[in-house]
Amino acid sequence: MQTSKAADCEVLIVGGGMVGLTLGLTLAGAGVEVIVVDRADPATVQDAAFDGRASAIARGSQQALAGAGLWDAMAASAQPILDIRVTDGRIGAGASSLFLHYDHRDVDDAPLGCIVENRAVRGALHAEAARRGRLRLLAPQQVIDLERGPSWVEARLGDGRRLRARLAVAAEGRTSPLREAAGIRTTAWSYPQAGIVCTVAHERPHQGVAHEHFLPAGPFAMLPMTDAEDGTHRSSIVWTERRDLAPAMMALGPQDFAAEIARRFGDSLGRLEAIGGRWSYPLSLLHAERYVDRRLALIGDAAHAIHPIAGQGLNLGLRDVAALAEAVVDARRLGLDLGEAGVLARYERWRRLDTLMLIAATDGLNRLFSNDLAPLRLVRDLGLAAVNRLPPLKRLFMGHAMGLLGDLPRLIRGEAL
Ligand SMILES: Cc1cc2nc3c(=O)[nH]c(=O)nc-3n(C[C@H](O)[C@H](O)[C@H](O)COP(=O)(O)OP(=O)(O)OC[C@H]3O[C@@H](n4cnc5c(N)ncnc54)[C@H](O)[C@@H]3O)c2cc1C
Repeated sequence: MQTSKAADCEVLIVGGGMVGLTLGLTLAGAGVEVIVVDRADPATVQDAAFDGRASAIARGSQQALAGAGLWDAMAASAQPILDIRVTDGRIGAGASSLFLHYDHRDVDDAPLGCIVENRAVRGALHAEAARRGRLRLLAPQQVIDLERGPSWVEARLGDGRRLRARLAVAAEGRTSPLREAAGIRTTAWSYPQAGIVCTVAHERPHQGVAHEHFLPAGPFAMLPMTDAEDGTHRSSIVWTERRDLAPAMMALGPQDFAAEIARRFGDSLGRLEAIGGRWSYPLSLLHAERYVDRRLALIGDAAHAIHPIAGQGLNLGLRDVAALAEAVVDARRLGLDLGEAGVLARYERWRRLDTLMLIAATDGLNRLFSNDLAPLRLVRDLGLAAVNRLPPLKRLFMGHAMGLLGDLPRLIRGEAL
């Protein structure tokens, strides 16, 4: 590594997905010089065909996006979640009469969170990246290797350029090459499930209710979306299916596909019709043994990727963003080296417990509910009904779903960074 070269930026973020780009914009908004490198073309990732998912954004994450000046650009596409209804059922047999109902009025009058199309999130982040000072997005571009010295990191890019920074952040998703190169091991396993995703139009309005219907193959979620411009009522489906059956479901004609959805969800929203594309994601879990190394921090799916059963993966990543941004900005305000070990240790301590709890909860729920064993079915149905009748326990679960429990970074609490 050359020693005389000046820094090109303070923080180099490799991976400009929803998590990496949010960190870049948050730091740049706080005056930190940032470069984000992503191997994908921005036009491709904003195209309608790239990602048909809509994400449940918890209230705490929404507050963090607002604090970073990013929420307004996506707010028009955000459907407030007023209630969440959790039921257990069988295909074609409808939902069990024992259920769990979260009502936002049990907490206060504000929504529990919002459903936003990933395309709208990506569009808002890229539009802001094009105009926010102190942030440079290099895409499509590759990091070929990263050298991490005692006081600098230096990246070699695909076009031969070298970039020097104080801190490197790995935000390249599950397969993170920087995590691998740093020798950080992971615990990982695949679920025998795939997540089928599409948007459906339905006859009746959803009233802001999100449904999570547990079926033997896994959870079937119907997430309320904003109405289309022509007034069509819409919801986003995340349909967990046996991995070996998912390709056959994906290949069904429009009517058969809609009929399979109706067999799983029922007719409470009237006639259903899938609109737009279909996507299928293999489901897996991954957890890095460490989130930091010398001058390197892992965030988002590069550090932890979880089952979408509770719609929390992106929310975990946004909490990483809020915690790392706070650790970096606080160090910088004190005149400290923002890539030094103490700053990174603060970030890691902050994030580990929250992540471990969600990994245990999502993995446990998936195992408990994704089967048709009669004794387990009875236990879980009684469990749902019991939680439903215990307001303090219900409020605790709602606090988790809203991302508002634990030792929270300032941005998640709705305060300035
Ligand atoms: C079916 C499904 C439904 C989900 N629903 C929800 C939900 O409702 N709510 C929720 O909170 N979460 C949800 N999630 C999880 C959420 O989508 C992920 O946690 C989130 O997208 C992770 O974002 P990321 O930016 O960390 O990683 P990615 O989205 O994987 O982004 C990684 C970025 O890094 C870039 N990259 C990769 N390698 C390199 C490289 N070598 N060099 C440069 N750039 C690179 C890629 O181009 C990409 O832009 C869901 C997941 C699935 C599968």
